[in-house]
Amino acid sequence: MKNNEDKEFSNSEITVTFDPSTCTQSGICAKELSDVFSFSIIPWINLDNTETEKIINQINRCPSGALKFKRNLTKAS
Ligand code: SF4
Repeated sequence: MKNNEDKEFSNSEITVTFDPSTCTQSGICAKELSDVFSFSIIPWINLDNTETEKIINQINRCPSGALKFKRNLTKAS
């Protein structure tokens, strides 16, 4: 059974994925950007709380690579 619901989070611009088996529990994400990442609140990634570029910068600081993002495709109108 495929169940990615608790590991994939989106706002209008990006989709963030989290791989718990890769995470080294460094806590950097929750410490440095607690508006978005939390270990105590479910859902623990809330992309609505800050600017997308800040989220991307924080993801790039994840030492294990557990956090990744991709930019959402925008439909041409
Ligand atoms: S920064 Fe990366 S390795 Fe550290 S707790 Fe967050 S997801 Fe896990």
